[in-house]
Amino acid sequence: MSNQAKLSGKVALVQGGSRGIGAAIVKRLASEGAAVAFTYVSSQAPAQALADSITAEGGKALAIKADSADADAIRGAVEQTVQTFGRLDILVNNAGVLALGPLAEFSLEDFDRTYAVNVRSVFIASQAAARHMGDGGRIINIGSTNADRMPFEGGAAYAMSKSALVGLVKGLARDLGPRGITINNVQPGPVDTDMNPANGDFADIMLGFMAVKRYGHADEIASFVSYLAGPEAGYITGASLTIDGGFGA
Ligand code: NDP
Repeated sequence: MSNQAKLSGKVALVQGGSRGIGAAIVKRLASEGAAVAFTYVSSQAPAQALADSITAEGGKALAIKADSADADAIRGAVEQTVQTFGRLDILVNNAGVLALGPLAEFSLEDFDRTYAVNVRSVFIASQAAARHMGDGGRIINIGSTNADRMPFEGGAAYAMSKSALVGLVKGLARDLGPRGITINNVQPGPVDTDMNPANGDFADIMLGFMAVKRYGHADEIASFVSYLAGPEAGYITGASLTIDGGFGA
């Protein structure tokens, strides 16, 4: 089987696919033959441009506006994907927010939104998508190396949200394994995106924590996701797999 055709005939949904790591995952899965639906919350123009570029190259893509903090919107995106492309094989839960701040000033609104987008949306989407998946189904969540190591102040809510996914995939792996569906977390370290720019104020601090002294590229995360989405990864489930340049070493 050629690498290009690895996901031929498969249908994927990426939560949060308009920018950054999510957009790289959308492009990678589409380049491997999958029809790819993806959600966004505010980036309408970049999302449509991404879908159009995939379609122009002969692929299949669909941009869906759906806030990952809204349960009905997530369920609607799953249904729209199945209605449009006829099935669902791969779910990537990438949408995430990063709110940092001193403990004394950290708002409950930021805490609740972090939980809703980074954790609750993963459960809702996995529950809705699993109804449509069969043997060989794949669910991949984008966690963070901060699940294991949070070496600076102000990141408690974010670290909590990503470590919550570690337990979530262990439990869901038990629920889904008998049906041949796997679920795993990919835990990136610092990756150059709008959320964490390699030329941002925080970059020097980040580089100090890494064994490989550079930011990761979104394409490197997409490559790992592609492996987990493919047929060779059927024996990996319930795992939290770190790709972080040694940030947590
Ligand atoms: P970006 O901020 O660059 O992109 C976030 C993406 O998620 C966008 O497509 C955005 O859509 C979408 N999104 C955000 N909130 C929502 C929402 N409520 N509903 C639907 N879509 C939403 O982030 P990154 O690419 O850097 O991060 C992607 C994931 O990787 C996140 O889960 C993050 O926590 C994780 N991560 C990132 C690291 C990094 O260093 N960059 C390190 C470790 C983990 P829109 O364009 O419409 O806003």
